[in-house]
Amino acid sequence: MRRDLIDLLACPICKGDLIIESESISKEEGDEIIEGRLYCSRCKEYYPIEDGVPILLPPEMR
Ligand SMILES: [Zn+2]
Repeated sequence: MRRDLIDLLACPICKGDLIIESESISKEEGDEIIEGRLYCSRCKEYYPIEDGVPILLPPEMR
């Protein structure tokens, strides 16, 4: 996913903003994040990015 796409993404639980910490990006190409994780500071929940696709499912649905 493009790094600036994060502005359009929202937490599936609280609809709050997600953030990505640079240390939680494990693989990136240019401005594309390939592997990493998004974080919701309100829910204290992480959402994985796998093969460039953010997996925005509540934890109980994975
Ligand atoms: Zn949330």
